[in-house]
Amino acid sequence: MRLLLVEDDATLVRHLRRRLEQAGFVVDHADNGIDAQFLGTEQEYGIVILDLGLPGRSGMEVLKRWRANGNKVPVLILTARDGWQERVDGLRAGADDYLGKPFEPEELLARIEAVIRRHAGQADNTLEAGGLVLDHDRREVRLPNGDATALTATEFRILEALMRAPGRVVSKARLGEQAFEDDEYDSNRLEVYIRRLRKKIGPERILTRRGHGYVFIGKKG
Ligand code: CA
Repeated sequence: MRLLLVEDDATLVRHLRRRLEQAGFVVDHADNGIDAQFLGTEQEYGIVILDLGLPGRSGMEVLKRWRANGNKVPVLILTARDGWQERVDGLRAGADDYLGKPFEPEELLARIEAVIRRHAGQADNTLEAGGLVLDHDRREVRLPNGDATALTATEFRILEALMRAPGRVVSKARLGEQAFEDDEYDSNRLEVYIRRLRKKIGPERILTRRGHGYVFIGKKG
């Protein structure tokens, strides 16, 4: 899943980026409100972490503009520790959750997972489609016969993007966005990963729609 981190404190960004990547996210970063607004409009993100005090344009203003334009991306705002007023304003402006600074990265991660679950209507950190269960915490997929197979971070992100849209074509461009860093993506690499996934979950599960993308098949037959 691709995540947008909007924060102008370079030290905090370095720290968080590493932890978020370990947790399996592809991380984009903006250090000001103008770039944040643009990226959040142009790219499709699984979640945005949005600091409120930003150069260029405040996080609150960015959030209000996204919502006014119908952008429903899940947003977690970072607020001052005792800034109850900005928390209230942020939630009313359409934020999904908040975290006061300073915070422990583990709490941020737990809140990110919770926001993503709520957004997807999931009860826990697993995603189920067509008898397969994708387990975020164990980074594995469980097959209908009960076998579990470990996935790499990239394999996980690709399968996640496909399983969130069972039966629908997911374009190569969209899979690339969700699964790879910008400088790592090319369509041949994606095909290599699709082949690996087919070996792990069965070749009939992921169909190629030539010229369009891939489809996750929920049920056999
Ligand atoms: Ca700031």
